[in-house]
Amino acid sequence: MNLLVIGTVAFDAIETPFNKIEKITGGSGNYICHSAAHFINDMNLVAVVGDDFDQDELKYLKSKGVNLDGLQIKAGEKSFFWSGRYHLNMNSRDTLATDLNVLANFDPILPESYKQPEMLILGNIDPHLQIKVIEQLENRPQLIAMDTMNFWMDQTPEALDKVLKMVDLLIINDEESRQLSGVSSLVKAASIIKSKGPKYLIIKKGEHGALLFHENRIFFAPALPLEEVYDPTGAGDTFAGGFMGYLAQTNDISFENMKRAIIYGSAMASFCVEKFGPERLKTITNEELQDRVQAFVNLVDFNIEL
Ligand code: AMP
Repeated sequence: MNLLVIGTVAFDAIETPFNKIEKITGGSGNYICHSAAHFINDMNLVAVVGDDFDQDELKYLKSKGVNLDGLQIKAGEKSFFWSGRYHLNMNSRDTLATDLNVLANFDPILPESYKQPEMLILGNIDPHLQIKVIEQLENRPQLIAMDTMNFWMDQTPEALDKVLKMVDLLIINDEESRQLSGVSSLVKAASIIKSKGPKYLIIKKGEHGALLFHENRIFFAPALPLEEVYDPTGAGDTFAGGFMGYLAQTNDISFENMKRAIIYGSAMASFCVEKFGPERLKTITNEELQDRVQAFVNLVDFNIEL
């Protein structure tokens, strides 16, 4: 299945308790494409950058089958910039700066060839833009997934409510699900969030794995215990890209296949955190990915006679 992606393509500055980098490529759309490209080569990206953006990164995405006809490059303008500092647990972080730059006036115009996607992922970006993308489609994709974050819950709650009604699947983290629902129990939060629109919900719990909710079913996938987390930035987007990429590759959006997709998404995310930015995602081999997925299987493989 082909996949349409909207999200940010950005420069990030990142501080962890152990490392620091002033400028590296990032952005939700960028990480999603890097990750999904391991599974499919039929992807369309709609995004915006300034003419300061790294051309090699764009060439790389193109070489992996990401169509950039819908990527606007604004002459004389600066790319979206985000900066964050991680706490000691490497799970939570403070946003130090969000400079919208080109994103402030971004009008996501879909080229004709983008208008009939089989699957759509609305990466973390202003919900007004997520809505604009859906409104330009000529057919409804088989699956519309979206990501968001506290920034948009605070800034644009009405638009967020509107887009939630238009999607099938929301992918957020535990903190965000508590903020969005106003309750602390994740199970209660899940029913409140599902009542806002999405039939499926994935709540990511960082190093504690992820939960998939659908009707009255819940599936839990662990995260791989890693000896070292170098930089968690983009892990959530990488998870989402791997999840959607796997569903698209296998042409199956059933709940059973979503369980497998969560494992693939988690495996991709476990690579992402090994280096700054999307660097590690560029070098993953098929063998490494299969070994990592096997490690997930082994992690939860036990026998109980009942
Ligand atoms: P993640 O760690 O998966 O939440 O994603 C981090 C990426 O999201 C970074 O590369 C940022 O450039 C991007 N990002 C940060 N804040 C925002 C925002 N408000 N809207 C869209 N993308 C953002």
